[in-house]
Amino acid sequence: SGRAPADRVRTTCGYCGVGCALDVVVREDRVAAVLPARDGPVNRGHACVKGRFAYGYLGSAERLTEPLVRENGELRPASWPEAVARVADGLRAAVRDGGPDAVAAISSARATNEENYLVQKFLRTVVGTNNVDNCSRLCHAPSAAGLTASFGRAGGTDPFDDVENADCLLVVGANPVEAHPVVGARLLQRALDGARLVVADPRAVGLARHADVHLRPRPGTNVALFHGLAHVLLAEGLTDPAFLRGRTTGLGELTALLAAYPPARVAEITGVPAGDLTAAARLYGRAERPAVVYGLGVTEHLHGTDGVRALANLPILRGAVGGTGRGFGISPLRGQNNVQGASDMGALPDLLPGYGRVADPEARDRAEAVWGRPVPPRPGLRIPDMFEAARDGRLRALWIIGEDVCATDPGSRRVAEALDACPLVVVSELFLGETARHADVVLPAASWLEKDGTFVNFDRRFQRVRPAVRPPGTARSDFAAVHAVAAAMGADLGCPTPAEALAECGQVAPVFGGLSHARLDREGAVPWPCPSPDEPGEATLYTAEFATPDGRAHLAAPPYLPPGEEPDADYPLLLVTGRRWAHYNSGSMTRRGGNLLLDTHGRLDLHPEDAARHGVADRASVVVESRHGRARLTARVGPDVAPGQVFCAFHFPEDGVNALVSRNADTVTSCPEYKVTAVRLRPA
Ligand code: SF4
Repeated sequence: SGRAPADRVRTTCGYCGVGCALDVVVREDRVAAVLPARDGPVNRGHACVKGRFAYGYLGSAERLTEPLVRENGELRPASWPEAVARVADGLRAAVRDGGPDAVAAISSARATNEENYLVQKFLRTVVGTNNVDNCSRLCHAPSAAGLTASFGRAGGTDPFDDVENADCLLVVGANPVEAHPVVGARLLQRALDGARLVVADPRAVGLARHADVHLRPRPGTNVALFHGLAHVLLAEGLTDPAFLRGRTTGLGELTALLAAYPPARVAEITGVPAGDLTAAARLYGRAERPAVVYGLGVTEHLHGTDGVRALANLPILRGAVGGTGRGFGISPLRGQNNVQGASDMGALPDLLPGYGRVADPEARDRAEAVWGRPVPPRPGLRIPDMFEAARDGRLRALWIIGEDVCATDPGSRRVAEALDACPLVVVSELFLGETARHADVVLPAASWLEKDGTFVNFDRRFQRVRPAVRPPGTARSDFAAVHAVAAAMGADLGCPTPAEALAECGQVAPVFGGLSHARLDREGAVPWPCPSPDEPGEATLYTAEFATPDGRAHLAAPPYLPPGEEPDADYPLLLVTGRRWAHYNSGSMTRRGGNLLLDTHGRLDLHPEDAARHGVADRASVVVESRHGRARLTARVGPDVAPGQVFCAFHFPEDGVNALVSRNADTVTSCPEYKVTAVRLRPA
């Protein structure tokens, strides 16, 4: 951005989606400390171990400092002009040989809003394809689809601050104490201050120790569990009839469906005792201001979108959504810092910035009027389909930004084969990760502490991202890299600065029209929708009406369908993957720099009964096998996982964790079923 580094720079954390405001102390262009901002809108002086201490990667000797290009099978250093020319030539060749749809890009929830905006604009207007997606495909795509279908917008319904007024917290499929620690602390504080707490998670996650009721459903049975809760609400009159009559649709169909989900039947499906289910439903149903918060334990399933919709039924039945003052609605805890923003900016194959559909002529007209170029009407490829298209020769160029797909996507070997089959693979990265090793061109990228822009946190708040230090060597922001490639292809993308990109995005998507860098500099955080600079932004959605075509909230009635895999004689255990406290995703940043020494290898949590049955001792090395792959982990025996289940984090991909996961994916959004894999284990 050209901005000179200052001694203390206010920015937004680049790890999880909580969006903590941080003050970065800089000495001689190096980060000396990161302090949680006392006036941070979300964190209020708090931060977790990742935001505070995981900056050592900045000075890692492994940082990429210059572009690399492949020559005679090897990656060798190159100048930016050479690398950019190679990318531009390769993209042109792909279009010439296969048409615009032979090109695709995977944008990033680690990138700023402005970078995501520019990437999708480049694909749509310069290349001429909608083949752009982002890594929300692997986590919260079912939230976007489910919440949009139920309420009309692809985000949480209420500001997280309202949790402080909640008198019952229903926390589902999430481990915020470890994965979103500042939110976890605020939820815990609220529970300690008197709110009733219901935790629904197969594991004894941190919050479960403080819960009034802990529901432990078998992985893959969420839809039945949520229908069971809804059944009790209806059966015991714990609904809001006036709200249901006046502001919703679908009650008749849902009521008919729920007749098949009495607690006794739900107990058979989920393993949750009927008494516990009923007790949880009564706590939620009798609360005056209940709140639902959920995580990837709801979304990463074969029927993840159904799960989001069945869960969203609960606040609708209670009239606890839509600005009624009778509850907090529902909020998805976003894993990556900018999962919300990457999708808001239209880095999606079927949606433009602000969620206009590419198939909708009106939405395309609005974008075309601003961009001055036609927008293709046909939705593009999703991430898993991109890999399949590369394998069968339809995809001839793929640009991957800030995502190590070989390490983090299911079926790692298949992904690597897809990259090897693709004539041009461009990877923008901080480090030479697994994916970059398969690239033809590697562009060294700036990290979140080195660039300018904005992120959107999990409750839809825009906040500024500011450069605290300079990127190493010739590394540069993805924003600059996309501009450079467009220019080398003879195109001018306009919006030369991130501030101008956000302003332009507000013209394409009126819901962002009131946002600007200058305003965020003044106000700190502003939620969307925010159509005008004079408006504060809608922290609470749907106060007048829902954003669905008929203005009503839509109750959903999806039947429970089993997960893609169930335990059997050959693979008797169910594996769930997730996060741990000190690390973040593939660990590319938190495992470099040496200032976080916890969890330095992959461990497999298993119950003492299963340990005894399989002859595995605590801390012993074990081999875990699924029908899809094999991993080697260290056993940690304890009661936090239920008998018949095992858990490991995905921070150590070299252990083979993602090779275990099946290719099953949400039937609506293609989000992988990371949460349910049948496995067996043996001592190594
Ligand atoms: Fe960063 Fe999330 Fe930790 Fe806050 S809670 S410091 S946003 S990782």
